[in-house]
Amino acid sequence: MTAELSEAGARALDAADPVGGFRARFLLPRGADGRSRAYLAGQSLGAQPAAARAAVQARLDEWAGLGVDGWFAPDRPWLDAERELADATGRLVGAHPHEVTTANTLSVNLHLLLAAFFRPKGRRTAILIDAPTFPSDRYVVESQLRHHGLDPERDLIVVRPRSGEDLLRSDDLESAIHEHRERLALALLAGVNYANGQVLDIGRVTAAIHEAGAVAAWDLAHAAGNIQLDLYEDDVDIAAWCTYKYLNSGPGALAQLFIHERFASDARTPRLAGWWGNEPATRFRMAETFQAGPGADGFRISTPPMLSLAPIASSLAIFDEIGLPALRRKSIALTAYLEALIDTLVPDATIVTPRDPGGRGCQLSVRLPDARRRLATLDALDVVADFREPDIIRLAPVPLYNTFDDVWRAASALASTAPESASSDPTGATS
Ligand SMILES: *Cc1c(COP(=O)(O)O)cnc(C)c1O
Repeated sequence: MTAELSEAGARALDAADPVGGFRARFLLPRGADGRSRAYLAGQSLGAQPAAARAAVQARLDEWAGLGVDGWFAPDRPWLDAERELADATGRLVGAHPHEVTTANTLSVNLHLLLAAFFRPKGRRTAILIDAPTFPSDRYVVESQLRHHGLDPERDLIVVRPRSGEDLLRSDDLESAIHEHRERLALALLAGVNYANGQVLDIGRVTAAIHEAGAVAAWDLAHAAGNIQLDLYEDDVDIAAWCTYKYLNSGPGALAQLFIHERFASDARTPRLAGWWGNEPATRFRMAETFQAGPGADGFRISTPPMLSLAPIASSLAIFDEIGLPALRRKSIALTAYLEALIDTLVPDATIVTPRDPGGRGCQLSVRLPDARRRLATLDALDVVADFREPDIIRLAPVPLYNTFDDVWRAASALASTAPESASSDPTGATS
């Protein structure tokens, strides 16, 4: 591997990359004078598919030319816009098309899913989450508990990594689920953790949650488009994710959700209703009685924003073309390359993300002395990453558009931020 750990080595890996051509499908952020930047921040906001602009423009043109008739236009009615995404979305997360829909944004979808599926009864009133928890998810579950007159002090169970450790042990998670089995109503867990990049075994943990008699809910914000998902096979009850991270659909783009067909296809499944979730054949009769539409679409509430939906189709088309197995193969190689470079070139870095490629997606979370200052230096060197309190830099080489050369640039820039004699001089650790 050592010959590969050089700029020439990175270029050679790029030349041999069978899916390297997909980078040209994206517009990547550049410096003010057009300088290229190594964009390793797709975990926060994915790059823009080059086709997105025309897709949005087409909607604008339809609006201008058709007005209200756009909803029923014979060739491509706006009414079918979410359905058009369902096949590709299903392939991405391992679901049937009728189990997924595109609506709202992620935190809103978590609220809507909990409104339908968190139904505290008798002694079963608790929600279990994993830590580190994305703040919005924590606010969602705490406010849901209060909404039901419950007390998060008592009814929120947070399973954390052991003291002095960064990663959650799956045994600890499963024992906590088992220990609280009589009071657990629902568990909401991260498929890929936003802070440390750890992947949980969704099938195994879902089975443990079901064994405890509770609802298995997954936040897949950092998983969708990053790792292979099999939500139906894994028997997940409900899941939600945004489309602006690894799904590259634009800042604040509409989010997506999954509801297993055993609930989605049952009109009696409770929900907060709006006219867009009504059976399409009768929606515009404006009847007084809500009639649940089929599948996950029956959980929608409002008129979908056409301009925000347009880029999602452009992005999903690229995933379909490349295929998840090829994408994941490159992802594993790209992240392993970043790992090897950091291990070799940045002696004061600690990679907190699991070392096993099966236990992580593309992101590496790296603990560094003086991380905030070093992130600013990375930025000045045209490497885009991000910082999470207190001392973590997150770098996500995204296989759709990042190159081995981007990874080389990021690692060598990181190495150049180290204190002069990082290996022998501990001052960096105390600054
Ligand atoms: C990105 C992210 C969110 C963001 O939610 P929005 O409602 O889209 O702002 C929520 N939860 C997790 C785990 C995330 O990674």
